Amino acid sequence: MKILKGISANSGLAKGIANVYTEEVEENIPHYMIEEEKIEKEIARLKEAYGKTREVIENMLKASEEIFGKTGEEIFAAHGTILEDEALFEEIVALIKKRLINAEHAVNDVFDSYQEKFKRKDYHFSEMTHDIVDVRNRLLSSFDGVSGQFECPLNERQPVIVVSKRLTPSMVLNIAQSDVLAFVTEEGGLTSHATILAQNYGVPIIFGVNATENIDCGDSVIVDASLGKVIINPDKKTEKYYDEKLKEAEKRKKFCVIKKEEPTQTKKGVRLTLKANISLQAEIKLLEGLNYDGVGLLRSEFLFMNRDKPPTEEEWFKVYKNIAKAAKEKNVDIRLLDISGDKMPAYLQLPSGENNDLGIRGARAINIFYDMYLDQTKAILRASTHGNLRLLYPMISDISDIESFREVVKEAKSILDEEGKEYKKDVKEGIMIETPAAAVMAGILLKHVDFANIGSNDLLEYTLAASRNSQIIEKRYHILHPSLIRLMEIVIGETRKYKKEICLCGEIASFEEFYPLFLSLGINNFSVEASKLSDIKCNLLHLEKPGKSYLDEFYKNLKKNDIEKFFKRRIF
Ligand code: PEP
Ligand code: MG
Repeated sequence: MKILKGISANSGLAKGIANVYTEEVEENIPHYMIEEEKIEKEIARLKEAYGKTREVIENMLKASEEIFGKTGEEIFAAHGTILEDEALFEEIVALIKKRLINAEHAVNDVFDSYQEKFKRKDYHFSEMTHDIVDVRNRLLSSFDGVSGQFECPLNERQPVIVVSKRLTPSMVLNIAQSDVLAFVTEEGGLTSHATILAQNYGVPIIFGVNATENIDCGDSVIVDASLGKVIINPDKKTEKYYDEKLKEAEKRKKFCVIKKEEPTQTKKGVRLTLKANISLQAEIKLLEGLNYDGVGLLRSEFLFMNRDKPPTEEEWFKVYKNIAKAAKEKNVDIRLLDISGDKMPAYLQLPSGENNDLGIRGARAINIFYDMYLDQTKAILRASTHGNLRLLYPMISDISDIESFREVVKEAKSILDEEGKEYKKDVKEGIMIETPAAAVMAGILLKHVDFANIGSNDLLEYTLAASRNSQIIEKRYHILHPSLIRLMEIVIGETRKYKKEICLCGEIASFEEFYPLFLSLGINNFSVEASKLSDIKCNLLHLEKPGKSYLDEFYKNLKKNDIEKFFKRRIF
Protein backbone atom coordinates (compact mmCIF):
# COMPACT_ATOMS: atom_id res chain seq x y z
CA MET A 1 0.00 0.00 0.00
CA LYS A 2 1.25 3.46 -0.85
CA ILE A 3 -0.35 6.80 0.09
CA LEU A 4 0.22 9.96 -1.93
CA LYS A 5 -0.99 13.41 -0.96
CA GLY A 6 -2.20 16.10 -3.30
CA ILE A 7 -4.55 19.04 -3.61
CA SER A 8 -8.24 18.45 -3.91
CA ALA A 9 -10.04 20.32 -6.70
CA ASN A 10 -13.31 18.49 -6.16
CA SER A 11 -14.25 16.56 -3.05
CA GLY A 12 -15.60 13.03 -2.84
CA LEU A 13 -14.60 9.44 -2.47
CA ALA A 14 -13.90 6.86 -5.17
CA LYS A 15 -12.49 3.36 -5.39
CA GLY A 16 -11.54 1.55 -8.57
CA ILE A 17 -8.92 0.42 -11.03
CA ALA A 18 -6.43 2.95 -12.38
CA ASN A 19 -6.05 3.61 -16.06
CA VAL A 20 -3.24 5.87 -17.20
CA TYR A 21 -4.12 8.38 -19.90
CA THR A 22 -1.29 9.72 -22.04
CA GLU A 23 -1.33 12.40 -24.63
CA GLU A 24 0.91 10.50 -26.98
CA VAL A 25 2.27 13.48 -28.83
CA GLU A 26 4.01 14.66 -25.67
CA GLU A 27 6.03 11.48 -25.45
CA ASN A 28 7.08 11.41 -29.04
CA ILE A 29 7.56 14.69 -30.85
CA PRO A 30 9.59 14.13 -34.02
CA HIS A 31 12.71 16.32 -34.26
CA TYR A 32 14.64 16.42 -37.53
CA MET A 33 16.43 18.84 -39.85
CA ILE A 34 15.07 19.69 -43.30
CA GLU A 35 16.80 20.78 -46.48
CA GLU A 36 16.33 24.37 -47.60
CA GLU A 37 14.29 23.40 -50.66
CA LYS A 38 11.84 21.52 -48.37
CA ILE A 39 10.87 24.67 -46.42
CA GLU A 40 7.73 25.36 -48.47
CA LYS A 41 6.64 21.74 -48.14
CA GLU A 42 7.11 21.94 -44.37
CA ILE A 43 5.02 25.12 -44.21
CA ALA A 44 2.33 23.39 -46.26
CA ARG A 45 2.35 20.51 -43.72
CA LEU A 46 1.97 23.10 -40.97
CA LYS A 47 -0.99 24.74 -42.72
CA GLU A 48 -2.64 21.38 -43.22
CA ALA A 49 -2.24 20.57 -39.51
CA TYR A 50 -3.71 23.97 -38.65
CA GLY A 51 -6.70 23.22 -40.90
CA LYS A 52 -7.33 19.85 -39.24
CA THR A 53 -6.97 21.34 -35.76
CA ARG A 54 -9.41 24.09 -36.64
CA GLU A 55 -11.94 21.47 -37.61
CA VAL A 56 -11.35 19.43 -34.44
CA ILE A 57 -11.76 22.49 -32.21
CA GLU A 58 -14.96 23.48 -34.01
CA ASN A 59 -16.36 19.99 -33.49
CA MET A 60 -15.33 20.04 -29.87
CA LEU A 61 -16.99 23.40 -29.43
CA LYS A 62 -20.26 21.94 -30.64
CA ALA A 63 -19.94 18.78 -28.58
CA SER A 64 -18.90 20.63 -25.41
CA GLU A 65 -21.84 22.99 -25.76
CA GLU A 66 -24.12 19.97 -25.57
CA ILE A 67 -22.33 18.36 -22.62
CA PHE A 68 -21.14 21.34 -20.58
CA GLY A 69 -23.31 24.24 -21.83
CA LYS A 70 -21.96 27.78 -21.87
CA THR A 71 -18.75 26.99 -19.93
CA GLY A 72 -17.69 24.39 -22.49
CA GLU A 73 -18.46 26.70 -25.34
CA GLU A 74 -16.35 29.52 -23.85
CA ILE A 75 -13.38 27.23 -23.21
CA PHE A 76 -13.17 25.82 -26.70
CA ALA A 77 -13.80 29.24 -28.20
CA ALA A 78 -10.70 30.33 -26.24
CA HIS A 79 -8.80 27.43 -27.80
CA GLY A 80 -9.87 28.69 -31.20
CA THR A 81 -8.47 32.12 -30.30
CA ILE A 82 -5.11 30.63 -29.31
CA LEU A 83 -4.95 28.69 -32.57
CA GLU A 84 -5.85 31.73 -34.67
CA ASP A 85 -3.15 33.89 -33.07
CA GLU A 86 -1.37 35.05 -36.21
CA ALA A 87 1.80 36.10 -34.44
CA LEU A 88 2.17 32.58 -33.11
CA PHE A 89 1.75 31.07 -36.57
CA GLU A 90 4.27 33.50 -38.06
CA GLU A 91 6.75 32.67 -35.33
CA ILE A 92 6.50 28.96 -36.14
CA VAL A 93 7.03 29.66 -39.85
CA ALA A 94 10.02 31.89 -39.06
CA LEU A 95 11.56 29.18 -36.90
CA ILE A 96 11.19 26.54 -39.63
CA LYS A 97 12.95 28.87 -42.05
CA LYS A 98 15.66 30.04 -39.69
CA ARG A 99 16.65 26.78 -38.06
CA LEU A 100 15.64 24.43 -40.87
CA ILE A 101 13.68 22.24 -38.51
CA ASN A 102 10.54 20.17 -39.05
CA ALA A 103 7.16 21.77 -38.37
CA GLU A 104 6.36 19.67 -35.25
CA HIS A 105 9.65 20.71 -33.65
CA ALA A 106 8.96 24.38 -34.40
CA VAL A 107 5.39 24.16 -33.08
CA ASN A 108 6.65 22.62 -29.88
CA ASP A 109 9.35 25.25 -29.29
CA VAL A 110 7.13 28.23 -30.05
CA PHE A 111 4.26 26.95 -27.88
CA ASP A 112 6.74 26.19 -25.08
CA SER A 113 7.99 29.74 -24.90
CA TYR A 114 4.43 31.06 -25.23
CA GLN A 115 3.47 28.89 -22.28
CA GLU A 116 6.47 30.11 -20.23
CA LYS A 117 5.29 33.70 -20.60
CA PHE A 118 1.96 32.77 -19.02
CA LYS A 119 3.59 30.73 -16.29
CA ARG A 120 5.45 33.79 -15.10
CA LYS A 121 2.27 35.84 -14.78
CA ASP A 122 -0.04 35.54 -11.79
CA TYR A 123 -1.75 32.32 -10.72
CA HIS A 124 -4.79 32.77 -12.95
CA PHE A 125 -2.68 33.18 -16.09
CA SER A 126 -0.39 30.34 -15.13
CA GLU A 127 -3.45 28.09 -15.16
CA MET A 128 -4.03 29.08 -18.79
CA THR A 129 -0.90 27.15 -19.70
CA HIS A 130 -3.04 23.99 -19.67
CA ASP A 131 -5.13 25.44 -22.48
CA ILE A 132 -2.00 26.31 -24.43
CA VAL A 133 -0.64 22.78 -23.95
CA ASP A 134 -3.97 21.41 -25.07
CA VAL A 135 -3.98 23.41 -28.31
CA ARG A 136 -0.32 22.49 -28.93
CA ASN A 137 -1.05 18.79 -28.46
CA ARG A 138 -4.05 18.99 -30.72
CA LEU A 139 -1.94 20.69 -33.34
CA LEU A 140 0.87 18.18 -33.00
CA SER A 141 -1.50 15.25 -33.22
CA SER A 142 -2.98 16.72 -36.41
CA PHE A 143 0.29 15.97 -38.21
CA ASP A 144 -0.22 12.25 -38.01
CA GLY A 145 -3.56 11.85 -36.35
CA VAL A 146 -2.25 10.60 -33.00
CA SER A 147 -4.05 11.84 -29.86
CA GLY A 148 -4.42 10.99 -26.22
CA GLN A 149 -5.43 7.52 -25.14
CA PHE A 150 -5.71 5.09 -22.24
CA GLU A 151 -2.84 2.70 -21.70
CA CYS A 152 -5.18 -0.21 -20.93
CA PRO A 153 -8.31 -1.02 -22.89
CA LEU A 154 -11.44 0.38 -21.30
CA ASN A 155 -13.96 -2.12 -20.03
CA GLU A 156 -17.34 -0.81 -21.09
CA ARG A 157 -19.03 -1.53 -17.81
CA GLN A 158 -16.25 -0.48 -15.51
CA PRO A 159 -15.40 3.19 -15.02
CA VAL A 160 -11.81 3.94 -13.97
CA ILE A 161 -9.65 6.21 -11.85
CA VAL A 162 -8.06 8.34 -14.57
CA VAL A 163 -4.37 8.98 -13.92
CA SER A 164 -2.48 11.45 -16.07
CA LYS A 165 0.24 14.01 -16.16
CA ARG A 166 -2.29 16.81 -16.42
CA LEU A 167 -5.90 17.48 -17.31
CA THR A 168 -6.65 19.37 -20.48
CA PRO A 169 -10.10 20.43 -21.69
CA SER A 170 -9.92 18.17 -24.75
CA MET A 171 -8.92 15.26 -22.61
CA VAL A 172 -11.95 15.77 -20.37
CA LEU A 173 -14.11 15.93 -23.44
CA ASN A 174 -12.51 12.80 -24.92
CA ILE A 175 -13.30 10.80 -21.80
CA ALA A 176 -16.98 10.05 -21.28
CA GLN A 177 -18.42 10.87 -17.87
CA SER A 178 -19.52 7.25 -17.52
CA ASP A 179 -15.88 6.10 -17.81
CA VAL A 180 -14.58 8.16 -14.86
CA LEU A 181 -14.59 7.53 -11.13
CA ALA A 182 -11.97 10.18 -10.29
CA PHE A 183 -9.15 12.21 -11.83
CA VAL A 184 -5.64 12.06 -10.35
CA THR A 185 -3.02 14.27 -12.00
CA GLU A 186 0.47 15.64 -11.47
CA GLU A 187 -0.17 19.17 -12.64
CA GLY A 188 -3.37 21.10 -12.25
CA GLY A 189 -5.10 24.10 -10.82
CA LEU A 190 -8.19 24.78 -8.78
CA THR A 191 -9.67 26.99 -11.40
CA SER A 192 -8.06 25.79 -14.61
CA HIS A 193 -10.49 25.31 -17.46
CA ALA A 194 -9.97 21.57 -17.45
CA THR A 195 -10.78 21.44 -13.72
CA ILE A 196 -13.94 23.47 -14.23
CA LEU A 197 -15.08 21.02 -16.91
CA ALA A 198 -14.09 17.96 -14.91
CA GLN A 199 -15.98 19.29 -11.87
CA ASN A 200 -19.13 18.95 -13.96
CA TYR A 201 -18.62 15.19 -13.86
CA GLY A 202 -19.11 15.37 -10.09
CA VAL A 203 -16.17 13.07 -9.39
CA PRO A 204 -13.23 13.63 -7.01
CA ILE A 205 -10.26 15.45 -8.54
CA ILE A 206 -6.80 15.52 -6.99
CA PHE A 207 -3.77 17.19 -8.52
CA GLY A 208 -0.21 17.74 -7.33
CA VAL A 209 0.36 13.99 -6.96
CA ASN A 210 3.41 12.24 -8.36
CA ALA A 211 0.92 10.07 -10.17
CA THR A 212 2.38 8.60 -13.34
CA GLU A 213 5.50 7.46 -11.55
CA ASN A 214 3.64 5.72 -8.73
CA ILE A 215 0.45 4.43 -10.30
CA ASP A 216 0.33 1.80 -13.01
CA CYS A 217 -2.50 0.84 -15.24
CA GLY A 218 -4.50 -1.84 -13.37
CA ASP A 219 -3.54 -0.76 -9.84
CA SER A 220 -6.32 -0.70 -7.32
CA VAL A 221 -6.76 2.91 -6.12
CA ILE A 222 -8.83 4.74 -3.50
CA VAL A 223 -9.25 8.50 -3.86
CA ASP A 224 -10.26 10.34 -0.69
CA ALA A 225 -10.42 13.89 -1.98
CA SER A 226 -11.65 15.42 1.27
CA LEU A 227 -8.26 14.43 2.73
CA GLY A 228 -6.38 14.99 -0.54
CA LYS A 229 -5.28 11.33 -0.41
CA VAL A 230 -4.63 8.77 -3.11
CA ILE A 231 -4.18 5.27 -1.72
CA ILE A 232 -2.58 2.78 -4.09
CA ASN A 233 -3.15 -0.96 -3.66
CA PRO A 234 -4.72 -0.57 -0.19
CA ASP A 235 -4.33 -3.22 2.48
CA LYS A 236 -7.39 -5.24 3.58
CA LYS A 237 -8.13 -3.07 6.63
CA THR A 238 -8.02 0.16 4.66
CA GLU A 239 -10.14 -1.31 1.91
CA LYS A 240 -12.79 -2.47 4.36
CA TYR A 241 -12.83 0.93 6.02
CA TYR A 242 -13.34 2.71 2.71
CA ASP A 243 -15.98 0.23 1.51
CA GLU A 244 -18.07 1.28 4.48
CA LYS A 245 -17.43 4.97 3.84
CA LEU A 246 -18.47 4.52 0.22
CA LYS A 247 -21.68 2.81 1.25
CA GLU A 248 -22.49 5.68 3.63
CA ALA A 249 -21.65 8.26 0.97
CA GLU A 250 -23.95 6.53 -1.51
CA LYS A 251 -26.78 6.58 1.01
CA ARG A 252 -26.21 10.25 1.74
CA LYS A 253 -26.14 11.19 -1.92
CA LYS A 254 -29.65 9.87 -2.30
CA PHE A 255 -31.18 12.18 0.26
CA CYS A 256 -28.83 15.12 -0.05
CA VAL A 257 -30.51 17.58 -2.33
CA ILE A 258 -30.56 21.18 -1.14
CA LYS A 259 -31.82 24.43 -2.45
CA LYS A 260 -28.91 26.80 -3.03
CA GLU A 261 -30.70 29.71 -1.43
CA GLU A 262 -31.51 27.87 1.80
CA PRO A 263 -29.60 29.05 4.88
CA THR A 264 -27.34 26.61 6.72
CA GLN A 265 -29.27 24.87 9.45
CA THR A 266 -29.63 21.53 11.18
CA LYS A 267 -32.54 19.11 10.73
CA LYS A 268 -34.54 20.84 13.47
CA GLY A 269 -33.85 24.29 12.01
CA VAL A 270 -31.02 25.40 14.32
CA ARG A 271 -29.25 28.09 12.28
CA LEU A 272 -25.48 27.66 11.87
CA THR A 273 -22.99 30.08 10.35
CA LEU A 274 -21.15 28.56 7.40
CA LYS A 275 -18.51 30.63 5.65
CA ALA A 276 -15.99 29.91 2.91
CA ASN A 277 -12.20 29.73 2.90
CA ILE A 278 -10.75 31.04 -0.32
CA SER A 279 -7.22 31.42 -1.65
CA LEU A 280 -7.85 32.74 -5.15
CA GLN A 281 -10.06 35.46 -6.49
CA ALA A 282 -11.72 33.03 -8.91
CA GLU A 283 -12.98 30.88 -6.03
CA ILE A 284 -15.52 33.51 -5.10
CA LYS A 285 -17.32 32.42 -8.28
CA LEU A 286 -17.92 28.98 -6.74
CA LEU A 287 -20.16 30.73 -4.23
CA GLU A 288 -22.35 32.55 -6.71
CA GLY A 289 -26.02 31.98 -6.03
CA LEU A 290 -25.30 30.06 -2.83
CA ASN A 291 -26.65 31.19 0.51
CA TYR A 292 -23.41 31.40 2.53
CA ASP A 293 -22.38 33.56 5.44
CA GLY A 294 -19.27 35.31 4.17
CA VAL A 295 -15.61 34.55 3.64
CA GLY A 296 -14.17 33.38 6.95
CA LEU A 297 -10.61 33.16 5.68
CA LEU A 298 -9.02 34.71 2.63
CA ARG A 299 -5.51 33.26 2.48
CA SER A 300 -3.95 36.33 0.87
CA GLU A 301 -0.51 34.76 0.42
CA PHE A 302 -1.85 32.71 -2.51
CA LEU A 303 -3.19 35.67 -4.49
CA PHE A 304 0.04 36.56 -6.26
CA MET A 305 2.05 33.47 -5.33
CA ASN A 306 3.92 32.87 -8.58
CA ARG A 307 5.09 36.39 -9.27
CA ASP A 308 8.66 37.51 -8.92
CA LYS A 309 7.66 41.08 -7.99
CA PRO A 310 5.46 41.92 -4.99
CA PRO A 311 1.99 43.17 -5.88
CA THR A 312 1.54 46.92 -5.75
CA GLU A 313 -1.04 48.55 -3.49
CA GLU A 314 -3.24 49.03 -6.58
CA GLU A 315 -3.03 45.35 -7.49
CA TRP A 316 -3.97 44.26 -3.97
CA PHE A 317 -6.73 46.87 -3.98
CA LYS A 318 -8.27 45.64 -7.22
CA VAL A 319 -8.53 42.03 -6.02
CA TYR A 320 -9.95 42.98 -2.62
CA LYS A 321 -12.45 45.36 -4.18
CA ASN A 322 -13.68 42.64 -6.57
CA ILE A 323 -14.04 40.12 -3.75
CA ALA A 324 -15.76 42.67 -1.49
CA LYS A 325 -18.26 43.46 -4.24
CA ALA A 326 -18.89 39.81 -5.10
CA ALA A 327 -19.53 39.01 -1.43
CA LYS A 328 -22.08 41.86 -1.36
CA GLU A 329 -22.76 42.82 2.26
CA LYS A 330 -21.19 39.70 3.77
CA ASN A 331 -18.05 39.85 5.90
CA VAL A 332 -14.80 38.95 4.15
CA ASP A 333 -11.97 38.25 6.57
CA ILE A 334 -8.68 38.94 4.85
CA ARG A 335 -5.75 37.34 6.57
CA LEU A 336 -2.63 39.45 6.18
CA LEU A 337 0.24 37.57 4.53
CA ASP A 338 0.96 34.39 6.45
CA ILE A 339 4.26 33.02 5.26
CA SER A 340 5.85 29.74 6.21
CA GLY A 341 7.80 26.83 4.76
CA ASP A 342 5.12 25.68 2.34
CA LYS A 343 3.53 29.05 1.69
CA MET A 344 6.21 31.33 0.40
CA PRO A 345 5.25 33.71 -2.40
CA ALA A 346 7.99 33.81 -5.03
CA TYR A 347 8.34 37.59 -4.61
CA LEU A 348 9.50 37.30 -0.99
CA GLN A 349 13.08 36.31 -0.26
CA LEU A 350 13.92 35.18 3.24
CA PRO A 351 17.47 35.03 4.55
CA SER A 352 18.62 31.47 3.87
CA GLY A 353 17.98 28.94 6.61
CA GLU A 354 15.09 30.99 7.99
CA ASN A 355 12.33 29.62 5.85
CA ASN A 356 10.64 27.15 8.16
CA ASP A 357 7.58 26.71 10.31
CA LEU A 358 9.24 27.91 13.49
CA GLY A 359 11.18 30.80 12.00
CA ILE A 360 9.87 33.97 10.47
CA ARG A 361 6.11 33.67 10.76
CA GLY A 362 3.20 35.99 11.50
CA ALA A 363 4.16 39.28 13.08
CA ARG A 364 7.85 38.27 12.97
CA ALA A 365 7.77 38.83 9.19
CA ILE A 366 6.57 42.42 9.47
CA ASN A 367 9.97 44.00 10.02
CA ILE A 368 11.51 42.13 7.10
CA PHE A 369 8.73 42.86 4.62
CA TYR A 370 7.37 46.06 6.15
CA ASP A 371 6.55 47.88 2.89
CA MET A 372 4.63 44.96 1.59
CA TYR A 373 2.47 44.65 4.71
CA LEU A 374 1.91 48.39 4.51
CA ASP A 375 0.75 48.25 0.87
CA GLN A 376 -1.46 45.28 1.62
CA THR A 377 -3.05 46.96 4.64
CA LYS A 378 -3.63 50.23 2.77
CA ALA A 379 -5.34 48.27 0.01
CA ILE A 380 -7.63 46.44 2.46
CA LEU A 381 -8.62 49.65 4.22
CA ARG A 382 -9.42 51.29 0.87
CA ALA A 383 -11.30 48.31 -0.52
CA SER A 384 -13.37 48.18 2.69
CA THR A 385 -15.43 51.06 1.33
CA HIS A 386 -16.81 48.58 -1.24
CA GLY A 387 -18.00 45.93 1.19
CA ASN A 388 -17.48 44.47 4.63
CA LEU A 389 -13.81 43.58 4.75
CA ARG A 390 -12.19 42.70 8.08
CA LEU A 391 -8.52 42.39 8.99
CA LEU A 392 -7.32 39.02 10.22
CA TYR A 393 -3.88 38.73 11.82
CA PRO A 394 -2.01 35.43 11.37
CA MET A 395 0.04 33.35 13.81
CA ILE A 396 -0.62 35.38 16.92
CA SER A 397 1.00 34.14 20.09
CA ASP A 398 1.31 37.30 22.12
CA ILE A 399 -0.29 40.74 22.62
CA SER A 400 2.86 42.26 21.13
CA ASP A 401 2.05 40.44 17.86
CA ILE A 402 -1.33 42.18 17.71
CA GLU A 403 0.40 45.47 18.47
CA SER A 404 2.88 44.95 15.62
CA PHE A 405 0.06 44.53 13.11
CA ARG A 406 -1.73 47.51 14.66
CA GLU A 407 1.34 49.68 14.08
CA VAL A 408 1.12 48.87 10.38
CA VAL A 409 -2.60 49.71 10.35
CA LYS A 410 -1.90 52.99 12.11
CA GLU A 411 0.76 53.99 9.62
CA ALA A 412 -1.38 52.84 6.68
CA LYS A 413 -4.18 55.13 7.88
CA SER A 414 -1.92 58.10 8.34
CA ILE A 415 -0.43 57.70 4.83
CA LEU A 416 -3.91 57.33 3.35
CA ASP A 417 -4.93 60.54 5.14
CA GLU A 418 -1.92 62.33 3.69
CA GLU A 419 -2.66 60.98 0.24
CA GLY A 420 -6.30 61.99 0.60
CA LYS A 421 -7.50 58.51 -0.34
CA GLU A 422 -10.87 57.27 0.83
CA TYR A 423 -10.87 54.36 3.30
CA LYS A 424 -12.95 52.85 6.07
CA LYS A 425 -11.85 54.12 9.47
CA ASP A 426 -13.25 51.40 11.71
CA VAL A 427 -12.36 48.13 10.01
CA LYS A 428 -12.86 45.25 12.44
CA GLU A 429 -9.87 43.21 13.56
CA GLY A 430 -9.53 39.52 14.30
CA ILE A 431 -6.81 37.04 15.15
CA MET A 432 -5.97 33.52 14.10
CA ILE A 433 -5.74 31.21 17.09
CA GLU A 434 -3.36 28.63 15.69
CA THR A 435 -0.56 28.43 18.23
CA PRO A 436 -0.97 26.67 21.58
CA ALA A 437 0.13 29.97 23.17
CA ALA A 438 -2.79 31.84 21.60
CA ALA A 439 -5.22 29.10 22.66
CA VAL A 440 -4.25 29.07 26.31
CA MET A 441 -4.00 32.87 26.41
CA ALA A 442 -7.20 33.38 24.40
CA GLY A 443 -8.95 35.32 27.17
CA ILE A 444 -6.21 37.94 27.28
CA LEU A 445 -5.83 38.23 23.50
CA LEU A 446 -9.55 38.35 22.74
CA LYS A 447 -10.02 41.48 24.82
CA HIS A 448 -8.01 43.36 22.20
CA VAL A 449 -9.87 42.31 19.05
CA ASP A 450 -13.35 41.90 17.61
CA PHE A 451 -13.26 38.26 16.55
CA ALA A 452 -11.08 35.16 16.29
CA ASN A 453 -10.66 32.13 14.07
CA ILE A 454 -9.44 28.77 15.32
CA GLY A 455 -6.87 27.56 12.79
CA SER A 456 -6.87 23.91 13.72
CA ASN A 457 -4.34 22.93 11.02
CA ASP A 458 -1.47 24.77 12.62
CA LEU A 459 -2.82 24.45 16.13
CA LEU A 460 -2.51 20.68 15.76
CA GLU A 461 0.93 20.89 14.18
CA TYR A 462 2.35 23.02 16.97
CA THR A 463 0.55 21.17 19.76
CA LEU A 464 1.65 17.73 18.59
CA ALA A 465 5.05 18.82 17.22
CA ALA A 466 4.07 16.82 14.13
CA SER A 467 4.29 18.29 10.66
CA ARG A 468 1.03 18.74 8.79
CA ASN A 469 2.82 18.12 5.50
CA SER A 470 4.94 15.07 6.14
CA GLN A 471 3.83 11.69 4.89
CA ILE A 472 6.23 9.89 7.15
CA ILE A 473 4.74 11.14 10.36
CA GLU A 474 1.22 11.52 9.09
CA LYS A 475 -0.03 9.06 11.69
CA ARG A 476 1.07 11.43 14.43
CA TYR A 477 -0.90 14.29 12.87
CA HIS A 478 -4.06 13.02 14.50
CA ILE A 479 -6.89 15.17 13.14
CA LEU A 480 -9.02 14.89 16.27
CA HIS A 481 -6.37 14.67 18.91
CA PRO A 482 -7.93 15.21 22.36
CA SER A 483 -5.43 18.01 23.03
CA LEU A 484 -7.07 19.99 20.22
CA ILE A 485 -10.51 19.46 21.73
CA ARG A 486 -9.24 20.61 25.12
CA LEU A 487 -7.71 23.73 23.59
CA MET A 488 -10.91 24.45 21.70
CA GLU A 489 -12.86 24.17 24.94
CA ILE A 490 -10.60 26.77 26.53
CA VAL A 491 -10.93 29.16 23.59
CA ILE A 492 -14.70 28.77 23.30
CA GLY A 493 -15.12 29.33 27.05
CA GLU A 494 -13.15 32.57 26.83
CA THR A 495 -15.04 33.84 23.78
CA ARG A 496 -18.27 33.32 25.67
CA LYS A 497 -16.92 35.24 28.63
CA TYR A 498 -15.87 38.19 26.49
CA LYS A 499 -18.80 37.88 24.07
CA LYS A 500 -16.54 37.65 21.03
CA GLU A 501 -17.23 35.92 17.74
CA ILE A 502 -15.34 32.65 17.22
CA CYS A 503 -15.15 30.61 14.03
CA LEU A 504 -13.50 27.27 13.28
CA CYS A 505 -11.70 27.52 9.95
CA GLY A 506 -9.16 24.66 9.81
CA GLU A 507 -9.60 21.51 7.70
CA ILE A 508 -11.23 19.73 10.61
CA ALA A 509 -14.39 21.76 9.89
CA SER A 510 -14.75 19.76 6.65
CA PHE A 511 -15.58 16.54 8.50
CA GLU A 512 -19.31 16.30 8.90
CA GLU A 513 -18.92 13.48 11.43
CA PHE A 514 -17.41 15.90 13.94
CA TYR A 515 -20.20 18.47 13.87
CA PRO A 516 -22.15 16.94 16.78
CA LEU A 517 -18.94 17.32 18.79
CA PHE A 518 -18.39 20.91 17.63
CA LEU A 519 -21.98 21.83 18.47
CA SER A 520 -21.75 20.30 21.91
CA LEU A 521 -18.54 22.25 22.47
CA GLY A 522 -20.65 25.35 21.84
CA ILE A 523 -19.31 26.43 18.48
CA ASN A 524 -21.74 27.21 15.67
CA ASN A 525 -19.62 29.25 13.28
CA PHE A 526 -17.49 27.49 10.66
CA SER A 527 -15.48 28.29 7.59
CA VAL A 528 -14.67 25.59 5.02
CA GLU A 529 -13.09 25.39 1.56
CA ALA A 530 -15.38 27.06 -0.97
CA SER A 531 -15.52 23.88 -3.08
CA LYS A 532 -16.77 21.85 -0.11
CA LEU A 533 -19.33 24.33 1.20
CA SER A 534 -22.39 22.89 -0.58
CA ASP A 535 -21.63 19.33 0.53
CA ILE A 536 -21.17 20.32 4.14
CA LYS A 537 -24.26 22.49 4.13
CA CYS A 538 -26.21 19.56 2.78
CA ASN A 539 -24.89 17.19 5.43
CA LEU A 540 -25.72 19.65 8.20
CA LEU A 541 -29.28 19.77 6.98
CA HIS A 542 -29.59 16.13 8.08
CA LEU A 543 -27.83 16.61 11.37
CA GLU A 544 -29.69 16.00 14.61
CA LYS A 545 -28.57 18.46 17.26
CA PRO A 546 -26.68 16.38 19.82
CA GLY A 547 -28.11 15.95 23.29
CA LYS A 548 -26.48 17.45 26.38
CA SER A 549 -24.58 14.29 27.20
CA TYR A 550 -22.80 14.04 23.87
CA LEU A 551 -19.59 15.62 25.14
CA ASP A 552 -19.58 13.25 28.14
CA GLU A 553 -20.01 10.34 25.73
CA PHE A 554 -17.07 11.61 23.72
CA TYR A 555 -14.83 11.78 26.78
CA LYS A 556 -15.97 8.35 27.95
CA ASN A 557 -14.95 6.87 24.60
CA LEU A 558 -11.74 8.80 24.70
CA LYS A 559 -10.84 7.08 27.96
CA LYS A 560 -11.64 3.73 26.38
CA ASN A 561 -9.46 4.73 23.43
CA ASP A 562 -12.45 3.98 21.25
CA ILE A 563 -12.79 7.29 19.46
CA GLU A 564 -12.52 5.86 15.94
CA LYS A 565 -15.47 3.54 16.58
CA PHE A 566 -17.42 6.40 18.16
CA PHE A 567 -17.10 8.47 14.98
CA LYS A 568 -17.15 5.50 12.63
CA ARG A 569 -14.19 7.05 10.86
CA ARG A 570 -10.46 6.78 10.90
CA ILE A 571 -9.05 9.73 12.77
CA PHE A 572 -5.50 9.53 11.46
C1 PEP B 1 -4.98 26.79 10.02
O1 PEP B 1 -3.81 26.79 10.39
O2 PEP B 1 -5.84 26.02 10.50
C2 PEP B 1 -5.42 27.69 8.94
C3 PEP B 1 -6.69 27.80 8.64
O3 PEP B 1 -4.48 28.36 8.25
P1 PEP B 1 -3.55 27.71 7.11
O4 PEP B 1 -4.12 26.37 6.79
O5 PEP B 1 -3.57 28.64 5.97
O6 PEP B 1 -2.23 27.65 7.78
MG1 MG C 1 -2.49 28.40 9.76
